[in-house]
Amino acid sequence: MADFDLIIIGGGPAGLTAGLYAARAGMSTVLFEAKDVGGEILNTELIEDYPGFESVTGAELAQKMADHARKFGLRIETYAPVKQIRLDGDRRVVELADGTIHTAYAVIVTVGGEPTKLGVPGEAEFHGRGVSYCAVCDGAFFKGADLAVIGGGDSAFQEGLFLTRFAKKLYVVHRRDEFRAQQILQDRLLGMDKVSTVTPAVVREIGGDASGVKWIDVQKDGSIERLPVEGVFVFVGFRPVGRYLFADHVDHDQSGYLITDQYMQTSIPGVYAAGDTRAQLAKQVTTAVGDATTAVLAAERYIEELKHAGRAFPKAPREVIARTTERMQLRTFPPGATVIREGDEPDYLYVIAHGDAVVTRRDATGGERVVNELHEGDYFGEIGLLTGEPRNATVRAKTSLEVLAMDLEAFRMLVRSSRATAEDITKVAAARR
Ligand SMILES: Cc1cc2nc3c(=O)[nH]c(=O)nc-3n(C[C@H](O)[C@H](O)[C@H](O)COP(=O)(O)OP(=O)(O)OC[C@H]3O[C@@H](n4cnc5c(N)ncnc54)[C@H](O)[C@@H]3O)c2cc1C
Repeated sequence: MADFDLIIIGGGPAGLTAGLYAARAGMSTVLFEAKDVGGEILNTELIEDYPGFESVTGAELAQKMADHARKFGLRIETYAPVKQIRLDGDRRVVELADGTIHTAYAVIVTVGGEPTKLGVPGEAEFHGRGVSYCAVCDGAFFKGADLAVIGGGDSAFQEGLFLTRFAKKLYVVHRRDEFRAQQILQDRLLGMDKVSTVTPAVVREIGGDASGVKWIDVQKDGSIERLPVEGVFVFVGFRPVGRYLFADHVDHDQSGYLITDQYMQTSIPGVYAAGDTRAQLAKQVTTAVGDATTAVLAAERYIEELKHAGRAFPKAPREVIARTTERMQLRTFPPGATVIREGDEPDYLYVIAHGDAVVTRRDATGGERVVNELHEGDYFGEIGLLTGEPRNATVRAKTSLEVLAMDLEAFRMLVRSSRATAEDITKVAAARR
């Protein structure tokens, strides 16, 4: 078992981007990938919409992303599928399929998804013998054959275009008359002589013999039509797989995509999701790398806050530290700026993450006298939250100051979490009154 700051699950564009940023920031990080690195782009022939690369093969882009992340020292474990994520105090526990266990303060889930199946007779039986979900992977096995591509979206059309290199004839079978694919893809594919559309039509059965697929039956206009094909390439949807990794409940939408906030955090503090497995409008390389950037920066901040809170309240249960950290906000103050002012109503407790602060009180002459100096790891503002009385001192930034602001609800959670923590906070408050 090893303990890390961050564990990334999945080595597609999202995972590799998160890994690059984390390694470059010096976080102790490991990335677990079930297969080889690259993710879905390995199944893509050409990518023409990733800025800076007018046209690049999926395999080349994957290699470049992995090399780039490794250059910054990212540890990548391939052929290491993750089985489960669960919680243990302030750590997220990641169990691999082989039973190995690792822990981290934060986890980023970037496991993408898997293609939706048609669910018709023959599909499972002929999978790998004529039924495929990846033209780039399997298309070359069908040189000179008649093929069918099932679906009407971008993936179906991109894969269909690739298949035209090998197919003698290509049927595009779709359950609607209209296609969802981008117009440019439709124009390219449907403009070819060897391509014909079969719409609106639904695949009912896939059949063949010992050598593989020989036909598909499609239902069109109320009757069954048999299309003689040797390969069926299915692109009818996508099933995100991230949610299946969680031992505990995690919020997801009706289609199973993980729901996150604007920082890519799931409903579990310290667990983030990025890329195709997350609920969002687009499933693209650009969005995957964007999500991952946000996720890793948010995770880095969360981890730092967790460590500061843990040091400030060492006797609090770790899961309470994780829950209070979730409610904390990082605030920064330039030298001389006031964080709390004597006489103001109490609102937050502050933990110093970086820098020094000066505590002053008004004296009888109306001037101010310095009563204390506070440093990284110290907290202030507890008296007001304990008593409800106005602030009894002013705290200003002495240097550039970063503080974690904890609201009353989180403070109460912390005080109630353990007798030792409550006693520690009360002692600090008593000494300062
Ligand atoms: C045919 C096709 C063509 C496409 N063309 C384009 C295009 O031209 N331009 C574009 O921008 N996008 C394109 N896309 C979409 C693009 O590939 C995806 O949006 C992108 O790969 C998503 O990245 P990701 O990292 O979120 O997920 P993925 O790329 O799916 O990577 C997820 C990774 O997680 C791994 N994994 C899964 N489960 C586990 C587990 N339990 N443990 C460890 N690892 C696990 C997987 O093996 C995989 O490597 C295309 C997709 C397809 C299918």
